[in-house]
Amino acid sequence: MEVFEGKSSFKGVAIGKIAEMKKAETVVRRTHVDDVDAEIARYHKAKEQAQAEIGELHDKAMKEVGEAQAEIFEVHAMFLDDFDDSVENIIREQNVNAEYAVATTGDNTAAMLAAMDDNPYMQARQTDVKDVADRVIRDMSEGGGEANTFTENVILVADDLAPSETVQLDKDKVLAFVTRQGSTNSHTAILARTMSIPALCQTPVTKDVDGKMGIVDGMEGKLIVDPDEATLEKYTKAAEAEAEKKRLLKELKGKETVTKSGRKIKLYANIGGIGDLNFVLENDAAGVGLFRSEFLYLQSNDYPTEEEQFKAYRTVAEMMAGKEVVVRTLDIGADKQVDYFKLDKEDNPALGFRAIRICLTREEVFKTQLRALYRASAYGNIDIMFPMITSVWEVEKAKAICEEVKDELTAQHIPFKDVPIGIMIETPAAVMIADELAELVDFFSIGTNDLTQYTLAIDRQNQHLERFFNAHHPAVLREIQMTIEAGHRHNTWVGICGELGADPELTEQFVKWGIDELSMSPSSILPVRQIIRNMD
Ligand code: PEP
Ligand code: MG
Repeated sequence: MEVFEGKSSFKGVAIGKIAEMKKAETVVRRTHVDDVDAEIARYHKAKEQAQAEIGELHDKAMKEVGEAQAEIFEVHAMFLDDFDDSVENIIREQNVNAEYAVATTGDNTAAMLAAMDDNPYMQARQTDVKDVADRVIRDMSEGGGEANTFTENVILVADDLAPSETVQLDKDKVLAFVTRQGSTNSHTAILARTMSIPALCQTPVTKDVDGKMGIVDGMEGKLIVDPDEATLEKYTKAAEAEAEKKRLLKELKGKETVTKSGRKIKLYANIGGIGDLNFVLENDAAGVGLFRSEFLYLQSNDYPTEEEQFKAYRTVAEMMAGKEVVVRTLDIGADKQVDYFKLDKEDNPALGFRAIRICLTREEVFKTQLRALYRASAYGNIDIMFPMITSVWEVEKAKAICEEVKDELTAQHIPFKDVPIGIMIETPAAVMIADELAELVDFFSIGTNDLTQYTLAIDRQNQHLERFFNAHHPAVLREIQMTIEAGHRHNTWVGICGELGADPELTEQFVKWGIDELSMSPSSILPVRQIIRNMD
């Protein structure tokens, strides 16, 4: 038995025979040409063919794995469109063959992408641009690559996998992907998440595993080759449990969250950072309903800079590919303490200096975050949400600061969108004045964790009060209903992002009251979708 460790981009277990991916070698030689015009014409002919092939791959991906996955081939077409100037210039200036000019252009573009440290998405597109160059080069030469057809289900091992290779695979036969290179941002990783199969990258697998028995453990990020009996038994059990989960997933993935009578609910995910996006995509969330941005501050030893925050928000916006992403502004204080804020010790921190109270007092900290958020808004569909609101003036003031930030960005010619603004309803005060607050914002998101704590006057951290704690207390439920009604009186959509939003015993009640959105930890999404789809 041998174990290889790598980075996992999808949790899950796969057991089966290992197959090494066969690849066509494209060896490019630099040769001298006299007739540069003929060489350029040869390039354009191959480019046209490559364009047609990319179009076909796009359509195939669209049918098999959906729009989000097919989009990568639009990126390929775009890369190819940008090749012309460089390729023609290399052929003309250096009197060289088109294959060499294309390969050099591909390598140069890949090197440029590799240097984009501030954009992990584009950085991960290096393999895509090389794939495009290889395609054009192949189209200029005779013959094709070896076919990868499998007679049984396999764990596919490769150095790396380009989207054009994965889309041509017989996906029903692939149990897992294991690549020696690649990143968790690569297309293969994204595809694996879409297919809900385990995938490991950066796994130093030796070349002699082809045909051997293997286990991919996506939880621990391991490929086990030639497992012993006890290991095989343990993983067979885990795989059976996975299969049951997958059955539910398969049934509900891609389906709308809609009741039988046609009421649609936005089912969103709560995240603490980029690392959670995996699960968001895996569980088919329609958006992110709560990005707890304070985790960026909690993970850091000093104030995260505007640039650091911008990168994180932009990545989430890009990865969610146009789906709504609600980012909650900094919510520290109370149970979430950050040393470098040097906050005074308080007798009663839950009722103290926290969240919006800190932001409205330390405007420079707030403004840095807002600038990062507005800048990232140009890359997707971001909403901004303020936590712990109790008064109208707080919302007015926070919005006024947003206006200042927008004016600054406009003056600096930095692009941004005029994003929707919402607030969390997590204090009884906010519930009582919800009509006034609704006039000021685009949406409400009910934070039932804090709303319960403040309504019942029970510290959410104190285990000794369990006897007095009732998650379904009628006061809290009535507050939720009141908030939904108030929001709707003013055309403000209302969601729940606290834990109650995922409570299967309450889902039907919330839908009947008219809730517009429920945001929860990703693993709760499909079970809640099932409840909603079974409702009349
Ligand atoms: C809440 O209070 O319900 C909420 C979602 O916010 P947090 O749990 O982060 O305080
Ligand atoms: Mg809260």
